[in-house]
Amino acid sequence: MNAHESALLEDLNPPQREAVLHIGGPLLVLSGAGSGKTRVITRRVAYLVKVHEVFPWRILAVTFTNKAAREMRERLVQLLGRQANDLVVSTFHSAAAMILRREAEHVGLTRSFVIYDDGDQLNVVKRAMREAGLEQSMQPRDILSRIDQEKNAARLPEDMEVEPGDERGMLVRKVYHAYQERLRAANAVDFGDLLLLLVSLFRKRPEVLENYRRRFHHVLVDEFQDTNPVQYALLKQLAPPPSANLVVVGDDDQSIYRWRGADVDNILNFPRQYPGAKVVKLEQNYRSDRNILDAAYEVIRKNTRRMDKKLWSDRPAGQTLQLMLNRDERMEAQEVARQILALQREGFIKFSSMAVFYRVNAQSRVLEEGLRLARVPYTLVSGRSFYDRAEVRDASAYLRLMVNPRSDADLLRIINTPARGIGDTTVERVTDYANTQAKSLYEVLSEPERVPALNSTAVKRLRTFHGLLKSLHDFAQGTTDAASAVDEMLRETKLVETLVAEGSDESNTRAENLREFLGAAQEFDLNRAAAAVAAASQPREEVPPEVDAAPLSADTPPLQAFLEQISLVGDADAEVGEGRVALMTLHAAKGLEFDAVFLTGLEDGVFPHSRALKGEDPDNGEEMAEERRLCYVGFTRARKRLFVSLAQCRSLFGELRYNPPSRFLRDVPPALFGISEQDVPEPPRAVATPPRKRTWDDDDGPRIDRSYSQASDMESVSGDVRGMRVRHEQFGVGRIVATDGTGPNAKVTVEFGGAVGLKRVIARFLMPG
Ligand code: ATP
Ligand code: MG
Repeated sequence: MNAHESALLEDLNPPQREAVLHIGGPLLVLSGAGSGKTRVITRRVAYLVKVHEVFPWRILAVTFTNKAAREMRERLVQLLGRQANDLVVSTFHSAAAMILRREAEHVGLTRSFVIYDDGDQLNVVKRAMREAGLEQSMQPRDILSRIDQEKNAARLPEDMEVEPGDERGMLVRKVYHAYQERLRAANAVDFGDLLLLLVSLFRKRPEVLENYRRRFHHVLVDEFQDTNPVQYALLKQLAPPPSANLVVVGDDDQSIYRWRGADVDNILNFPRQYPGAKVVKLEQNYRSDRNILDAAYEVIRKNTRRMDKKLWSDRPAGQTLQLMLNRDERMEAQEVARQILALQREGFIKFSSMAVFYRVNAQSRVLEEGLRLARVPYTLVSGRSFYDRAEVRDASAYLRLMVNPRSDADLLRIINTPARGIGDTTVERVTDYANTQAKSLYEVLSEPERVPALNSTAVKRLRTFHGLLKSLHDFAQGTTDAASAVDEMLRETKLVETLVAEGSDESNTRAENLREFLGAAQEFDLNRAAAAVAAASQPREEVPPEVDAAPLSADTPPLQAFLEQISLVGDADAEVGEGRVALMTLHAAKGLEFDAVFLTGLEDGVFPHSRALKGEDPDNGEEMAEERRLCYVGFTRARKRLFVSLAQCRSLFGELRYNPPSRFLRDVPPALFGISEQDVPEPPRAVATPPRKRTWDDDDGPRIDRSYSQASDMESVSGDVRGMRVRHEQFGVGRIVATDGTGPNAKVTVEFGGAVGLKRVIARFLMPG
């Protein structure tokens, strides 16, 4: 064994080593959380390059989020140095986007196509529906989600299977068809298209596919349990059964993207799709202390359809899990902040090794407030949020028009931003005319006088607007970096100036965001320049003449590359800041690890999500099984400390709810929380709840009496309650004089007597007196 070899193998256990050393052909690594699957992928890539002398450009490694891809690339740079530059390490979507751009002409696009996001997609659906006269027939959102489903399943409109008599199906197909046509006319694609168009191109043009097969001799996939059919189709094309060098790693227990079309059967059936595939199982967990691992196992083992695989660990049992019972969501946030500060003060755990998870995005607002009040530095891990801000989206729309003026959705977004006196009626007339002429809006605006029924002022304004877009487009043709394009655009459009002139705090912040956007472009240019220098100074290995080994994104112009990066920043992708606690949804937490994890909202109806509670026997439903897997993912992110918290009452989505504790808590034996039945702490009582006894009354786990979670009578204020005696924690006893509204948030006027007198209070803060 030479030095390279032993360095890459020495800290691997025998089955990990087996996976790294696997000679060729398909390989499945199937194992539980924290067992080193991701480590196997990076080591194997490094081993192929260093020991087998495989050219780096022959290797394609795909992972699930940009963040994971970045981490994997960083790790490979450590192991391989400069050679790592030639590897393709990316998400499915960015790999597909890079390839599709090279092959754009084959699918009716040009290389400057833009990538539409969710909001753009919805606009296109609406327009497609309007044109087909189908506006009233279905909700555009519903149609869009059906279209997305079809795309995830690798079906174009003509591939859709619609039963005769299925009117909604036929309608969806019709809109889907019109929607695709609109996208092509705008030289745009949506997320689903990135994969779908590539898969269908490869189906139709085997010789194009052949180029990529000749190039990529090794394909490796992390988080394979979450691939959807269109992703799997692409994998099978690039690395066809039975004998391609396809390495997939994953854990069926961590499949949490069913709602995006992921199919856990992909991993379970892999050996059937690739007969003769080698299967390696890893059983040692290196991440979590044993108490945490045991708790996670108790939760996941309740799922019936799974491969049973108990992980072992030689780590210590560690501290017990900590259960946090809170009165409401505000107290939950405060308590989380308090515990975080305590952990940090103890000096063992840094802010950057702590994370707070929640089930739905809406929970984050209150958690953020709690952390801010307690001065805990945090980053909200939802990479989109910066690019989702209205002003940043306006700026991106201009940029996209600079490279692709045909993009109608972008043009409509900014036609009157900043305000330039182009009203809705004018826009409608222009759009209608463009539809009849089958032209893009940009083309129509080059001769606005042809549009019927426009007055001369409107024509003049449209002409000026067209002039602006044209000069920006011309500028973009000649520019060699992203920042100067952004700078030119901001100056010409006066986006920043307009906001500054408004003078409010809010508009100043928005102006700052636009400057930050310019900063992002500058940073992008710097990184690109550095990568180019690194690539140029590197000796190139000999490339066989029939293989195209150029970096996939080599000839993407800088502005487009910048836009591509923006479009592909997914939900789960923000950097976890240095020295900051990470806040994120459970879905975004996949693959990550932290010393301390706070899992919030462990209440039935929040987590598991209320959707999973519907139906006859929710415990056996697919949705509940998926929630359970999500809980398993959440627990297993923690190395040393796991805090689970719940609130007795919670306002969420503008509603006040009293949810019972999560059923997942009952699966965890009390000993793992360090409690026995006698000394289970009483939860603090909600103000509005009449004192009721709660017990932990079962023998196989903490069970919390659900009665305490029922609303008090005052929660359902309705009918005539005037004269009723009530009590308020602060004001004492009084009688209701009047009510305004119904339900827990009704405003109730109460005469408290004495010095307090008449008060208007919210019903939920009252108890029957
Ligand atoms: P997940 O299922 O959550 O994605 P995983 O199986 O990909 O987890 P890794 O993230 O690769 O697991 O590894 C978990 C942790 O264990 C990491 O910190 C990794 O460095 C460490 N680890 C993995 N294998 C070993 C090993 N053989 N010796 C020491 N540490 C290891
Ligand atoms: Mg992993």
